[in-house]
Amino acid sequence: MAKDTDDHDAALESRIASGLHFADKETGAVIPPIHLATTYARDTDYALPDPGVGYSRDQNPTYRVPERMLAALEAGADALLFASGMAAATAVFRALTPGDRIVVPDVMYWGLRHWIKTFAETWGLERVTYTTADPDSLVAAITPGTRLVWVETPSNPLWDTTDLARAAELAHAAGALLAVDSTVATPVHTQPIRLGADIVMHAATKALNGHSDVLAGALVCRERNDFWARIATERGEGGAVCGAFEAWLLQRGMRTLFLRQRRASDSAQAIAEALQAHPKVERVRYPGLVDDPGHSVAAKQMHDGFGSMLSFMVRGGRDAALAVAGRLRLFASATSLGGVESLVEHRATIEGPDSPIPDNLLRLSVGIEVSDDLIADLTQALDALD
Ligand SMILES: *Cc1c(COP(=O)(O)O)cnc(C)c1O
Repeated sequence: MAKDTDDHDAALESRIASGLHFADKETGAVIPPIHLATTYARDTDYALPDPGVGYSRDQNPTYRVPERMLAALEAGADALLFASGMAAATAVFRALTPGDRIVVPDVMYWGLRHWIKTFAETWGLERVTYTTADPDSLVAAITPGTRLVWVETPSNPLWDTTDLARAAELAHAAGALLAVDSTVATPVHTQPIRLGADIVMHAATKALNGHSDVLAGALVCRERNDFWARIATERGEGGAVCGAFEAWLLQRGMRTLFLRQRRASDSAQAIAEALQAHPKVERVRYPGLVDDPGHSVAAKQMHDGFGSMLSFMVRGGRDAALAVAGRLRLFASATSLGGVESLVEHRATIEGPDSPIPDNLLRLSVGIEVSDDLIADLTQALDALD
């Protein structure tokens, strides 16, 4: 009989490093196997040997370790893996019923903002937006009868902070569920369920996997209720399932989440401070800066740092910003975030003409390189502006 050595009293970081002390029951292997089978044979009584595991669109045993790790990381009751962050997020909205009222941020992950707008129109959802830069707008937006409040904090790419405990109180008082896109905060810095959230969403493609080589998404719930069951059905029947190899890579990536994320977050803080002191920089947005509008709330709900994402506005407008991006050597000019390698992105180019993002803004995803090297790279690129 294999030992169950997952010690719930140990630090989360200790438990996650070993995949919750996984050991394969048959072989003792300390790393879980990948199950590539799409179908599973029944026994002589026509029962499935592993209940629920019959066809891999419904369930894949490879998901078990990463899903348990996700539930532990977010202090939730259950977790579901999806094919991408978008597949996870959209499953939440598809579990709503036409006529439901939703409250969503004005500034958030661009792809999801665009999808929600179109989906709300076709699915008949009443969409109310709140302003991430104005926390009081949430009070007016969440009216009685609201079904779902969606929050992203810190929110892409200005990193405004939304007070999760307050959002949960407002949502619950109105009879709504609170769902949080916590991709940027990661469970290393914030655990929304502990602050009252009902559902946490992750683009696991980003920091959870951490190596820019897996597309995956995840949802974690506070409790298994009817809404969660609808989401699980949506995954199985809608078929937006994670590949077995991706699920396996994700459990491997998550084992080093704390190491990577703490290092990147410490560097992001140092970079934000260095950029703030540079004459060619107009403004830096990072919740770890004491003068950032979201800092006091962020200091309350984030721990072990303020994350690996920051943005800065370059003096001289769009052309100056693009020139800086072009001169950077350690930061690759690429979209996405949360990988071990640092990236820079000009969001206004990516989002197009209806983007609310200033065109002199560069977004940085800080990796695990030496922070002095990253600061030197940014400094040389900014110094070269005339
Ligand atoms: C990337 C991202 C998503 C979408 O995730 P995909 O895996 O690309 O589908 C959603 N929210 C945030 C904050 C993201 O960064």
